[in-house]
Amino acid sequence: MNSSVQKIKERLSIEEVISSYIKLEKVGSNLKAKCPFHNEKTPSFFISNDRGNYYCFGCGAKGDIFTFVEEFEGLDFKGALKLLAERAGVVLENYDPKNESEKEKLYRIMEEATKFFENNLIKNNEVLNYLKSRGLEDKTIKDFRIGFVKNDWRELYFSLQKKGFTDMDMEKAGLVKKTEKGFYDRFRGRIMFPIFDSSGRIIAFSGRIFVDDGKLAKYLNSPETPIFSKSAVLYGLDKAKESIRKNNFSILVEGQFDLILSHQAGFKNTVATSGTALSDSTISKENVVSNLGLIRRLSGNIVLAFDADKAGFNAANRASKIALSFGMDVKVAKMPEGIDPADLISKNGVDAWREAIRNSKHIIEFLLEKVLKDFGNDTRKAGREIKEKVLPYVNALESSIEKMHFIKKISDMSQISEQALKDDLVKIEKEFKYEKEEIEKAKEIGNKMFRKDYIERRLLGIIFWQKTLSKQIINIEKMTKELAEIFNIKENELLDKFKDNKEDLIFEAEVFYGENINLEKDVLELLDNLKEEYLKEELFCKMQELRILEIKKDNEKSNEILKEINEINKKIQNIKNSRLRK
Ligand SMILES: [Zn+2]
Repeated sequence: MNSSVQKIKERLSIEEVISSYIKLEKVGSNLKAKCPFHNEKTPSFFISNDRGNYYCFGCGAKGDIFTFVEEFEGLDFKGALKLLAERAGVVLENYDPKNESEKEKLYRIMEEATKFFENNLIKNNEVLNYLKSRGLEDKTIKDFRIGFVKNDWRELYFSLQKKGFTDMDMEKAGLVKKTEKGFYDRFRGRIMFPIFDSSGRIIAFSGRIFVDDGKLAKYLNSPETPIFSKSAVLYGLDKAKESIRKNNFSILVEGQFDLILSHQAGFKNTVATSGTALSDSTISKENVVSNLGLIRRLSGNIVLAFDADKAGFNAANRASKIALSFGMDVKVAKMPEGIDPADLISKNGVDAWREAIRNSKHIIEFLLEKVLKDFGNDTRKAGREIKEKVLPYVNALESSIEKMHFIKKISDMSQISEQALKDDLVKIEKEFKYEKEEIEKAKEIGNKMFRKDYIERRLLGIIFWQKTLSKQIINIEKMTKELAEIFNIKENELLDKFKDNKEDLIFEAEVFYGENINLEKDVLELLDNLKEEYLKEELFCKMQELRILEIKKDNEKSNEILKEINEINKKIQNIKNSRLRK
């Protein structure tokens, strides 16, 4: 395996990999870009071809081609390895069932289940005809690997059992449920849509009921599993990302059929929210932020194409406020009332869909027109509706120039004076201050969590890996002790905390550091980076605390906190200085 990573790094330069995601500029022998991991106007993201790494002076993002792909695409290490190996034309060695980790087994079981569903569909003309009546072509059915499962209790269960999977495996994958009488299939009598992660691995299913008697949910999604977190995936992203980058905008639709028909119509830059964070109002802001972050890194322009009468539109509105706060350009495609994109494409044709996308309007204009259409004759009512339904979006805008632009526009269209609108906006700002701060915090946390998480995983991986060797290259006792100190937990608790991912961590460490002669130096650097991340987090909390104390005008406590902040800053500076001396 070590050789695979080496080969990939030999064949793909960091410039080649990163420039396929974002635009780079030359500065001397290095390259720079606007950082994809935080919002900035002037570039502070630097790439060194000689060293094969990148560093952002704005947010501290750093790493090599593997971490870049991991962070950009929201993948784990193996997902990034799969993508980069395919790109470099490097064949990864086949898995060894003896060393297969839990996650790998789950990916394998999902793949087998997909094959089973696909085979069932081929044999079932009634379902095939239904799919064709909805406008799906054979090739599309194949590309999206759509399948079917009969309305029986243990069809899939017996098939997987024959392939040697245990009840436990199937339950962990979310494919069967347990009762006193034994296990039975979770998905029955449903058209099966596999959900892929951005590297193309199947991580879940969405099953649409075939014979709808109104008693069961129309759509049933996989539960959360070790490989599937509802909040972290957009349907169709694996097939859409290239096109989003190339066309510089994404189209967001609601359901599977919307997505598949849009792709079939040639709009491959479409992703769907179905069963994910953007459509589910119970999912936290952090998750919406992380999902949108992924789309934003590909392009800052997004077109929402929802049936405006449906509840989905409201949930999407929450996401669009967050998108606006990212500085994204959010447009809405105007759809005929009560019609979703799938209907529009299959009944009115591809041209109607193209027109809807082409005529999409900025979300603020879209909402304003809706209000004016409904209340245009009654200025007082229209004013109230604008304040309630339109101004919160103006408030969400990142740039104040844009805010003024829209205030003027609203004034022109509604005949309400700019001053009155500005006064209302001030009130709205106050009202939504908390929400805005929450979003900012979610953005901050999203970035940090990933970075810290990644360093922790690497370090623990090195410890676990070194323990498997008869002769260790580094002093793992010392390293464990230092790590436990940073985490502020006992040494045995530390190893316990990560024991479920042990095989994956060992694999990752071995692949990365297997032939490394500078392991000790790398470990020291990782430890420094981790300390820095923890200090930055502490700093962030103290700053929040300080702000509250300042509002309360508690000078005595403010001074105390200020002293602590200075101490933390000194420590961070020390780490930075020691890095420069190396
Ligand atoms: Zn950055």
